[in-house]
Amino acid sequence: MGLLLIKQAAAVITGNKDNRVLYDTDILIEGPQIKKIGRDLLKDLRLGSCEIIDGRNMYIYPGLVNTHHHFFQAFIRNNVWLDWTTWNVLEWIETIYPFFCAMTPEAIFYTAMISMADLVKHGCTTAFDHQYCYPKHAGVKLVDQQMAAAELMGMRFHAGRGANTLTRDDGSPLPDELIETTEAFIKDCDRLVSTYHDHGRFSMQRVVAAPCQPINCTEATFKETVRFARDKQIRMHTHLGEGEDPAMFERYGMRTLEWCLKNEFIGSDVWYAHGWDLRADEIDLLAETRTGISHCPAPVFLGGFTVPDIPRMHAMDMPLGIGCDGQASNDNSNLLEALRNAYLLQCLKAGKRDFPVPEPAEFMKIGTSGGAALLGRDDIGKLLPGMAADMFMVNIDRLEYIGALHDPVSLPIKVGISGTVDMTIINGEVVYRDGEFTRFDEKKVTESARESCMKVMYRNPKYAERIIKRL
Ligand SMILES: [Zn+2]
Repeated sequence: MGLLLIKQAAAVITGNKDNRVLYDTDILIEGPQIKKIGRDLLKDLRLGSCEIIDGRNMYIYPGLVNTHHHFFQAFIRNNVWLDWTTWNVLEWIETIYPFFCAMTPEAIFYTAMISMADLVKHGCTTAFDHQYCYPKHAGVKLVDQQMAAAELMGMRFHAGRGANTLTRDDGSPLPDELIETTEAFIKDCDRLVSTYHDHGRFSMQRVVAAPCQPINCTEATFKETVRFARDKQIRMHTHLGEGEDPAMFERYGMRTLEWCLKNEFIGSDVWYAHGWDLRADEIDLLAETRTGISHCPAPVFLGGFTVPDIPRMHAMDMPLGIGCDGQASNDNSNLLEALRNAYLLQCLKAGKRDFPVPEPAEFMKIGTSGGAALLGRDDIGKLLPGMAADMFMVNIDRLEYIGALHDPVSLPIKVGISGTVDMTIINGEVVYRDGEFTRFDEKKVTESARESCMKVMYRNPKYAERIIKRL
């Protein structure tokens, strides 16, 4: 098994309980895991038996964990006319879903590559994606395209098999082209679990059963998901508390969380995206049941939505992670930026809450071990012996960091990392170094991705008309 030694790292941010930082320290990596952390590790090794990386001037952080995204939206961004500040959610759906219907398997592959490239370049080593776009013409083998992209990228990937099952006749605003039956959805979840899901330590691919949202699915879909996921011991995910409560109340006479409780779609194997509408008593219920929240700050900014009460969630010791969200409600996949925005967003409400804003170091934990816990993993999110060798490095020997280097843990949150990171290591392998991916030719993939985007979006007359109007 290959050995990799990072020598004399300026600082290693361990992410352990007391957020310890180790200075002038080596990290020895063997295969997928961290073998040792300490000084002078080279003296115990045979010369020439391992690759050595110079860690001087490098701050090394645990790899970030993204807990909510929709990769397939990567072609539909940088459109001001889609921002939720000018459209209500129903109008947004009416406008954007016809373009989602145009997606092809090839486009799903390239949108995954685009999103993962942005994630890896900004320190993310484990990605969860919520793929709920299944146009009938594209067939069901779409998560397979994302799995192939993750393999090419060398990224740890949790694939959320999403679905929308409520038809227009039954009140859904979505086009029927994107509606599946519960039976087809569960059947494909089963196929994906048996093809890809690896329960083991340092697993690179897992599957999550993730109906899109309660308001756009039948109750049977959620009941069947719970039955299936608990039988297979996989995790569950959906959207919740993002403005759908009045419609849920009208349909079922209860708020979404109460409805999820009734359908047992709650517990330590479940996490929801958003939760900005959650009441204090609902946060208590999530803390009690160990149900997680993926907080995505970007759509809160863009839509002017309620700032979720992260200080209360944090104080209640609720499982918390961070998410980019899809590019239709956050135009990039820079998770470092999302983490910094999450902190700044809470500062907007400082002094107006029952609990103080968690410190920047706590946000780093939310973005690493917090996200790992949502995904059900105790082998990622910290830099300690025995953990997976997932990390990113930042060269701090740069003018813009002078004056900010006394607190390495808070640096990415309070100051921000300028540009891309200098190196990303996943499962013990360097996948990104000095601006280049090690496993594929970025230029070639960029060309193919551009062509795929042209085919699916820019040659779509409706889309072309919209963007040309804006030029
Ligand atoms: Zn979402």
